[in-house]
Amino acid sequence: MEIAKNLSVILEHIPGMVKLVAISKMKSVEEIMEAYRADHRIFGENKVQELVRKQEVLPNDIEWHMVGHLQSNKVKYIAPFVHLIHSVDTTKLLRTIDKEAAKSGRRIDCLLQVHIAREEVKYGFLREEILELLVSGELENLKSVRIVGLMGMATFTDDEDLIRSEFKSLKTLFDELKKHYLAGENSFNEISMGMSGDYMIAIEEGSTMVRIGSLIFGERSQPQ
Ligand SMILES: *Cc1c(COP(=O)(O)O)cnc(C)c1O
Repeated sequence: MEIAKNLSVILEHIPGMVKLVAISKMKSVEEIMEAYRADHRIFGENKVQELVRKQEVLPNDIEWHMVGHLQSNKVKYIAPFVHLIHSVDTTKLLRTIDKEAAKSGRRIDCLLQVHIAREEVKYGFLREEILELLVSGELENLKSVRIVGLMGMATFTDDEDLIRSEFKSLKTLFDELKKHYLAGENSFNEISMGMSGDYMIAIEEGSTMVRIGSLIFGERSQPQ
């Protein structure tokens, strides 16, 4: 009951164009099914093992997103089914995803994770590294991945101005890439930013996809 209600409250507060990824890490399949029965279909996890375990037992029409740091040697476990990988943080990882997607006969949609926070968040490309990747021409050889946008995590802080400025920097980079480097790419459209504590700010700053866990499922027993 609670989960369905939480979902509907959030959906009332976000524009229809913004996608809601329900982050179900550390939550049970029963809890996920509660959201599923309330017609939710997009779920995100941050650990490969947990994602695979849940995908195996839950309905096939769920769209599974990987949002956590991903090691190259684990890509093969999710390549057969994952819908979107938010956390591509190195060119090496992108190459591995391409290879494993090809093996599965799929093309996998990816977001490049950008380092926008002051500290804390360890992973992500710097702007210069993304430009390097785009001008290298390598993407043309990676035919089994598609870069559909960017993802960022703001600093974990109460300072709303800082959070807002970090989200603005992601939007600015997105606009720059779309205009100058990926102008022909109709599929480069997503900005994944915003979590339980900051999703309203993220939407004001141009988010197209929010990743919300605790506001839907309740607090997790351990922070992660
Ligand atoms: C856990 C997690 C979220 C959701 O966090 P909440 O604060 O519970 O909404 C979003 N994105 C990533 C990458 C996460 O690991």
